[in-house]
This record gives sequence, structure tokens and C-alpha cells, in this order.
Amino acid sequence: MERVDESAKEPNQTAREQRAGCDLNACSISAQHLKSFKGLTPRSPARVSSATFGKIRMSTKNIGNSRVLRGSCYCGAIRYEVADEFSYAMNCHCSDCRRATGSAFKPFAGIDRVKVRVVAGADRALVFGDPKANHDVHCEVCGSLLFSVVNEGARAHVTLGTLVDEPKIRPSAHIFVGDKAPWFTITDSLPQYEGHVT
Ligand SMILES: [Zn+2]
Ligand SMILES: [Zn+2]
Repeated sequence: MERVDESAKEPNQTAREQRAGCDLNACSISAQHLKSFKGLTPRSPARVSSATFGKIRMSTKNIGNSRVLRGSCYCGAIRYEVADEFSYAMNCHCSDCRRATGSAFKPFAGIDRVKVRVVAGADRALVFGDPKANHDVHCEVCGSLLFSVVNEGARAHVTLGTLVDEPKIRPSAHIFVGDKAPWFTITDSLPQYEGHVT
């Protein structure tokens, strides 16, 4: 949120700031946040070379000692592995997550970035955002959102829907319910937060 350019603020700034906060710390990256990066505008995905993506990928020496979960995009071009060591999982109802997934909300789980490794199809990755900082990683063939890199590259938010294997963790809360789709009713008893978990 601190990176939001004051001059770029729009009228609905409260919701936008909430969303930017959500995107930086909990779920994904926002259009507002993207505006703050030089040379990047919303809806201009940057395709990074496999070399660039490979460099990021190769920095992952060890994805942990625990069980390794497999993940895949819809078409199977990109496969990844992630340690079953998620530290939290939530359902985000913000409009960015809804649009990125085409769903009522995005179930995701957070983990250290180095514990996610793309094992096939890294050259098919479409990076939306700043490849050196916060960005979403999609498959350029089928469009699946596989994970978001947040906290300036330190953490990954893996979309639980792309996991092939079952993780130990379960989503523990609904966040950004204040931004929820009006046509969707939450029917479980998980705690609900207007924005971030407080
Ligand atoms: Zn794909
Ligand atoms: Zn979100």
C-alpha cells in the first residue's frame, strides 16, 4: 500500500487501498499496485524469458524436508512442486482474485517463495506484474493462475485449485468479504473479514 502513487488514486480509494493491501500481503497483486511500477500498466502482462524465469526458479535449492505436493495448470504445460508446509490458507473474495480466477473467490495458501519450484514448462510462464517483485504466474497456453509472488518476492500464494495432491492445510477464513460477489453466499462457518485478517 505504501507504494501506491498518491497521484494515481481513484475516487473509490478506500476499497482500492484495502485491495492493494490484500494484494500485497494476502492474495495477489492489484491493478493499482501495478501502476506504481515504472513501465508497467495494468493489463500489460510481461512475458519473461525462460532464462529470467529459470534464474528465479533455480534459486530454489531446497523446497523443504516435508512431503512435496504436485501442481499443474489446466493444459498441463506447466507443472510445479511445493512443500506441504503452507503457513496459512484463505479464501479471498477481492475483485482482483475473482477476475484472475473467474471464480467467486480464490482459495490460496501462503509459503516461502523458495519452497515452490516450477519443474516443467517454465518457458510457458506468463508473468503479470513485476518479475522482480510482486507478480502473478499464469500458463500462457491455458491461462491458469498457478501462484502469486508477494512480499517483494519472499512469499508465494499458491492457488489451491491448481494442486494435484492434497495439502494438509485448509482455508481458515474468508477475506475481503466486503468486496464479495453479490451473487455468492458464503455458507460455511469460517470467520469472515471485511478486508485482511485483523
Ligand atoms: Zn496451461
Ligand atoms: Zn484477493
